[in-house]
Amino acid sequence: MNNLKRKNIKISIIISILAASLLSLLFLGKYLRLEKIYQVFNKLNSLELKSDNNEYNMCVHFLDVGKADCIYIKCEDKHILIDAANKDVSSGVVEYLCRQNVDKLDLVIATHPHSDHIGQMHDVINSFEIDNFVMSEIPQKIIPTFTTYKKMLKSIQDKQLKIKLVHAGEKFTLGNLKINILSPCRQYDNLNNNSVVMRLEYGNDSFIFMGDAEKEAENDMVKSNLNLDSTVLKVGHHGSSTSTTKDFLEKVAPEFSIISVGKNIHKLPKKNIIKRIKKTGSKVYRTDTHGTIILRTNGKGIDVLTERRIA
Ligand SMILES: [Zn+2]
Repeated sequence: MNNLKRKNIKISIIISILAASLLSLLFLGKYLRLEKIYQVFNKLNSLELKSDNNEYNMCVHFLDVGKADCIYIKCEDKHILIDAANKDVSSGVVEYLCRQNVDKLDLVIATHPHSDHIGQMHDVINSFEIDNFVMSEIPQKIIPTFTTYKKMLKSIQDKQLKIKLVHAGEKFTLGNLKINILSPCRQYDNLNNNSVVMRLEYGNDSFIFMGDAEKEAENDMVKSNLNLDSTVLKVGHHGSSTSTTKDFLEKVAPEFSIISVGKNIHKLPKKNIIKRIKKTGSKVYRTDTHGTIILRTNGKGIDVLTERRIA
């Protein structure tokens, strides 16, 4: 064997060892990440055990799913899901709903087709009977090609589910819940602004769910004559400075503001947005610090339950 051949064999061995180490690291990383997510959902289970939700007719769960949205609402005998978190773990959202004894969803809303909102939607669709599936109409030129979106559409097609496309101004009722669609009132050139924005009213309490709607959509809502006044605001776009304008906040005048957010490179929620919200006198709850947040009501005032207490 000449020197050159020996050298080549040595290089091959080193490359093989490096490749094997990299593969093991990747596998371990994925495993640890999944473990972490399972822990989140296990923690949620303990929160449910602590809560006595049966005393309340309506419970709104803001799940701690990182920088993503997933909101489960039970109102009397109706079950609603707004968005389905990120794709990280395929069974997380479904597991949570099963633990809540959900066997059928009366209404599912996919606010907009970004992965942090529809990540597990295909799994939800495959697992439950769904009465109404709501989305907004996305302009042809920005229809996404993401795998999560394709998977969601395939599940919808396989189940022969009808998509109801909603627009601002539409109203409907679900049991004793009044539902008003506040946005989109037109088509926008980015997905966030095409988010379905919805106001729910139960007795004296009301909730606005923003998806990731940004200031262009907020400005249109402010200019409309729709009622924006609400007890609770699910803050738009994870507390990013693209959203929650002063004018919009003034119109909503929320008593409670909820931010669904986790570790992220964009440093969300932005400090100026928190400051702006607090200045209105609203209490701020965040899933990254409070963990999962459950708002409970009988239609005469909100009671807040959080997984973690913040001093
Ligand atoms: Zn988002």
